[in-house]
Amino acid sequence: MKVTEHIKNAKDKTLFSFEIIPPQKGQNIQKLYDNINPLMEFKPPFIDVTTSREEHVYIKKAGGLLEKKVTRMRPGTVGICASLMNKYQVDTVPHVLCGGFTKEETEYVLVDCHYLGIDNVMALRGDAMKDEAYFIPKNEGNNYASDLVRQISDLNKGCYLHEIIESTYKADFCIGVAGYPEKHMESPSMQADLRRLKEKVDAGAEYVVTQMFFDNSKYFAFIEAAKAMGINVPIIPGIKPVAVKRHLNVLPQVFSLDLPDALVKDIEKCTDNAGVRQVGIDWAIQQSKELIAAGVPVLHYYSMGKSDNIKAIASQVF
Ligand code: FAD
Repeated sequence: MKVTEHIKNAKDKTLFSFEIIPPQKGQNIQKLYDNINPLMEFKPPFIDVTTSREEHVYIKKAGGLLEKKVTRMRPGTVGICASLMNKYQVDTVPHVLCGGFTKEETEYVLVDCHYLGIDNVMALRGDAMKDEAYFIPKNEGNNYASDLVRQISDLNKGCYLHEIIESTYKADFCIGVAGYPEKHMESPSMQADLRRLKEKVDAGAEYVVTQMFFDNSKYFAFIEAAKAMGINVPIIPGIKPVAVKRHLNVLPQVFSLDLPDALVKDIEKCTDNAGVRQVGIDWAIQQSKELIAAGVPVLHYYSMGKSDNIKAIASQVF
């Protein structure tokens, strides 16, 4: 079922959902199940599965030379989606990226999703590769998420990349896109970023999931600004509990966001990461309760591979 249908059927009750990251190549999927199992009691109608960009690895050769190779360390997004659907009878949302894929490769991924009965896809640009200063699309790839949304919308109309294939048997993906309550790091202004978000919605996106934020007032302001821009699709808040002291520096640096000073002070007082984890849980509970009271359609948690803190939050909130 589509994410938008789940929201409609919930009749103003806030739903619980979360995002998982595929395991690294060579690891067993059981670890993933072990993290998901404790969260299923909160009845997520859908689970997002991220896609990781390819990265450069350097392989030592004889004589000390290094050979640069490209690899994808966490493949398997669509396969994991299929296995979760089968194991838990839950809808899954594979993340589909512009970065690292030609449009042709993207079409294959979408065709696989369609055959597997996946009803939703999250359309994202992806970040620059770690050793590149800015995002470079693959030759014959999509440049921005809005281009990818257009490709998926075309498939929903039965239009494949090559005009020779026009089909009456159409895909019908519900398309999600990313939104940034504190502005995307590359965008020159909040309004410019919102105009880009509007382009994605106009191209066919039916819902938005936000980047993590720690100050609900930023989300509420974002919702208002989006409405003023004419964006009228559901905007699902993304919540991430702080888990380790290092997050104080890493989260602002990687995601270009602010942590409220009260949260920073509470974390600074902690003498170990167990303490930080509890502060993160308490903060996310308070954030979640306020968002539910404001009537958000879904609370979407970034699990980052570990579910004990998400379970602790959900058991206080759902
Ligand atoms: P876009 O919407 O394309 O925007 C990127 C930047 O370009 C913005 O600054 C925007 O303002 C600007 N822009 C857009 N269109 C134009 C245009 N036509 N001309 C000029 N500028 C333009 N990353 C992953 O690698 N894998 C994942 O699974 C993943 N999941 C995510 C899930 C969520 C909910 C979120 C919020 C992010 C996720 N990301 C993921 C991170 C995401 O890929 C990055 O934030 C990326 O830098 C931007 O992606 P986007 O889809 O928002 O890009």
